[in-house]
Amino acid sequence: MNILVTGGAGFIGSHTVIELYAAGHTAVVADNLSNSCQESLRRAAQIIGTDTIPFYNVDIRDKAGLQEIFEQHTIDACIHFAGLKAVGESVSKPWEYYDNNIHGTLTLIDALRQHGCKRMIFSSSATVYGEPAEIPITENCPKGTCTNPYGWTKSMLEQILTDLYHSDSAWNIVLLRYFNPIGAHPSGMIGENPNGTPNNLMPYITQVAIGQRPELGIFGNDYPTPDGTGVRDYTHVVDLAKGHVSALSAIERGCGLAIYNLGTGKGYSVLDVVSAFEKASGVKIPYRIKPRRAGDIATCYSDPSKAEKELGWKALNGIEEMCRDSWNWQKKNPAGYICTEQK
Ligand code: NAD
Ligand code: UDP
Repeated sequence: MNILVTGGAGFIGSHTVIELYAAGHTAVVADNLSNSCQESLRRAAQIIGTDTIPFYNVDIRDKAGLQEIFEQHTIDACIHFAGLKAVGESVSKPWEYYDNNIHGTLTLIDALRQHGCKRMIFSSSATVYGEPAEIPITENCPKGTCTNPYGWTKSMLEQILTDLYHSDSAWNIVLLRYFNPIGAHPSGMIGENPNGTPNNLMPYITQVAIGQRPELGIFGNDYPTPDGTGVRDYTHVVDLAKGHVSALSAIERGCGLAIYNLGTGKGYSVLDVVSAFEKASGVKIPYRIKPRRAGDIATCYSDPSKAEKELGWKALNGIEEMCRDSWNWQKKNPAGYICTEQK
């Protein structure tokens, strides 16, 4: 299939483009480069062994820009990654988040249906469970109260896509709820490229390890977890990327509306991740315990068995591989990508 990948220059998108080609699909990427560089796609093309990956510097809110893509390509399905994702920023810029993520997705859906393409995989998040009512979290766990506008955009977009499916069963839609993607392509050529101070744990750790930051701040050690620090379900980005290929097969089989957790089912605390990283890298990570971060929950990990049963997908990499590959990427690219294009 030929897949429109919105946000395909980003962290998860660029890894997914590689797995799409590896599975015999092709991709057309639409990305406004607001949080990425085209260099990720140049490198992805090298890994794939193709001259170039079709790329459009397009904002998904731009109807005419999307129209041009559909005029030039036959699109069989869309994997929709494009969105703003910084939790803290979403609290200070809610309008920008609702406009980008919700208005953007509505514009994209309209373009898709006008061109008869009613197949979409949507990047959702474990954040839609709020303070989860059960651990491990199954897809039947009720959605919860989100603690920030970013989370609400994911929750609302899930609802919009569900309503769309109920209004027109010609749609096949898969909502994928990700659990803490980390790691990088094992080549070390592509990886996570945060803008400014990282919000997330793993890029912060790798920047401490490379000497860009003096120490890690650990947000709270008084949670009701085995060592008091927050527990999460870290998932290797290459496994996550492969999950999208499995979800595409479900769409081809006519799955209707389906929801899957993509996680490993294992929970690691912040201190577990620090010691796994130290072991994988041989570098000591100095840290200081800080107050809890607003909106954080104690424990969040998935029950990924539905994806295994129905999609045949299972995360294969463990925390060792995740730490090894995150470190390999950081070491080979101490300053991340060097962006040549203008923002
Ligand atoms: P990312 O920022 O690396 O990738 C998102 C891409 O979308 C970027 O390349 C950005 O330039 C592009 N983009 C943003 N707004 C756009 C717009 N209006 N038009 C066109 N392009 C636009 O983020 P990621 O980590 O790869 O995340 C991909 C998706 O997965 C996002 O929707 C994110 O919310 C979701 N998600 C990520 C995580 C995570 O921890 N990384 C967890 C759960 C869900
Ligand atoms: N965390 C931390 N220090 C940091 C970043 C994160 O202690 O600099 C903790 C955070 O409180 C949470 C875990 O690491 O318990 C994962 O946080 P992250 O932001 O990576 O993902 P989240 O689960 O919040 O989406």
